[in-house]
Amino acid sequence: MSKKIQAVCPSCGIQKHRTEMRKCLEPLEARHTREFGKHKELKTDGYEAFLNASFEWACDDCLNSKRAILANPGAQETASDPHLAYFDTALSCSTCQSDFQFKKEEKQAWYESYKLPIHAEPNNCLDCRRAIRQEKEENKTVSEILKNGESQLSEEELETLISIYHAWDKPEKVKYFESILRKRIKQED
Ligand SMILES: [Zn+2]
Ligand SMILES: [Zn+2]
Repeated sequence: MSKKIQAVCPSCGIQKHRTEMRKCLEPLEARHTREFGKHKELKTDGYEAFLNASFEWACDDCLNSKRAILANPGAQETASDPHLAYFDTALSCSTCQSDFQFKKEEKQAWYESYKLPIHAEPNNCLDCRRAIRQEKEENKTVSEILKNGESQLSEEELETLISIYHAWDKPEKVKYFESILRKRIKQED
């Protein structure tokens, strides 16, 4: 391997010398030393691991300027090399096609708190993820309300159905449940 090849920081995209990535390189080399112990011949150069890394790391400048944050490798569930740092990544939403940032703090939560696989990424932007979650909850509410049949509906349940169908832009459903609600109110008079 040519000695001239330099690792490019995935956070800032700038070529960096090994002395400019101490914050990630030192823990990586310490881990390799622990893992390979006496078998020094199996130990790889930590800097070389950064040349084609499938995990995230960042140079010292990025960490010092808070463009990137240090990861906690021990908190990640992985069979391969864990992330050493996190930085914002631009992704494209598969629902609305807009560009969005997968934020460094969000990555930390995904991989270290929720223990998701270290290469998992969101398919949708935050707005679309919220909308999808809300629609799921509304679907659940609607099926809960309708499970006992329409004749059992309370006025409150009818109002909930009407507002959900209104939000889903289903005018025929809105009209239908409004007519049931009107009859129900008339019966009470
Ligand atoms: Zn950098
Ligand atoms: Zn979206």
